[in-house]
Amino acid sequence: MQILVTNDDGIWAPGIAALAEALRPLGEVVVFAPDRERSAIGHAITMHNPLRVEEIPFPVEGIQAYVVNGTPSDCVKLGAEAILPRPPDLVVSGINLGPNLGTDVIYSGTVSGALEGVILGIPAVAVSLATYAEADFEVAGRFAAHLVRLVQKYGLPPDTLLNVNVPGLPLADLAGVKVTRLGTRRYRNVFDRRTDPRGKVYYWMAGEVLDLDDDPEADTVAISNNLISVTPLRYDLTHTGFLPELTRWPLELAKDDQAQSAPGRQYGCSGEPSVPQGGGQP
Ligand code: MN
Repeated sequence: MQILVTNDDGIWAPGIAALAEALRPLGEVVVFAPDRERSAIGHAITMHNPLRVEEIPFPVEGIQAYVVNGTPSDCVKLGAEAILPRPPDLVVSGINLGPNLGTDVIYSGTVSGALEGVILGIPAVAVSLATYAEADFEVAGRFAAHLVRLVQKYGLPPDTLLNVNVPGLPLADLAGVKVTRLGTRRYRNVFDRRTDPRGKVYYWMAGEVLDLDDDPEADTVAISNNLISVTPLRYDLTHTGFLPELTRWPLELAKDDQAQSAPGRQYGCSGEPSVPQGGGQP
C-alpha cells in the first residue's frame, strides 16, 4: 500500500514527521507537502504561477519526501497525477497543530488536502491535534495508524474522507472515540482594528471561538468531552432536503415579456419584481 502524506503546516512541521513515522509500518509512505505554512488556505490551487517540486531529505528515515511551493491541494494533485508512477492507495493529511472542527473544516488546508484525494477517487483521512499548547503528536499518530488499518480492512464509501480530531491529552486521560457530525462554530470580535506606525488603520483577524452546539453528536462537543472525534465528510454540499421546495419556485425567466428584456432589468435588479408575473409558473 502506498500512502501519500500531506499537511498545511509545511513540510518542516513536527506533526507531518510524526504522521509519516506512525504510518511507515503500514506501507510505502511518500510525503508531498508545502514549503511553508498554508493553514486556512482552504481548497485553493495554484493556477497563475509555476509549481516547483523538489525531492528533499526528510527528518524521518526511509521516507521519500517532496516539497512543493503550493497548497495542500496542489501537493496531492501533483503527487497523484504528475510525480508518482500511479495514484497512491490512500491520502492522509496532518497531523495538524490545532483542531479542525465544525464550520472550520471549510477553511482548513488539512481537510482540503484529504478532500483532494477524495476528488481524485482516493480514500483519505485528515488528522488534527486539538491543542496548540502541548504539541505531543504521539497519541494522534497512533490513532491515525489504527484508523488507517481499519480503512484498509473495511474500506470507505466513494467520495468519503474521515476527519479526525484528537484531544491534546495523554492516552490514559482520553474518554474514548466518538463518531460525530460537524458542529457549528462562529467567532466573536473577529477583526481587531489597529493603527500602524504611519497612522493608517489595518485589521487583524482574531476572535474568540463560539461553539453553538450542545448536541453530544457534534465533533466540537466530543472534543470538549476529551473524546477522539471521527467525522465522515464528503464534498457534495447539495442541500438535498431543500431540492423539492426549490423546484417549486417559479425560477424560469419569461422570454416573451418586453419588460423583462429592457436594459438593466433582466435580473430583477431595478426594483421590479424579479419573479415573472403570470406565465412563469411551471
Ligand atoms: Mn495548519
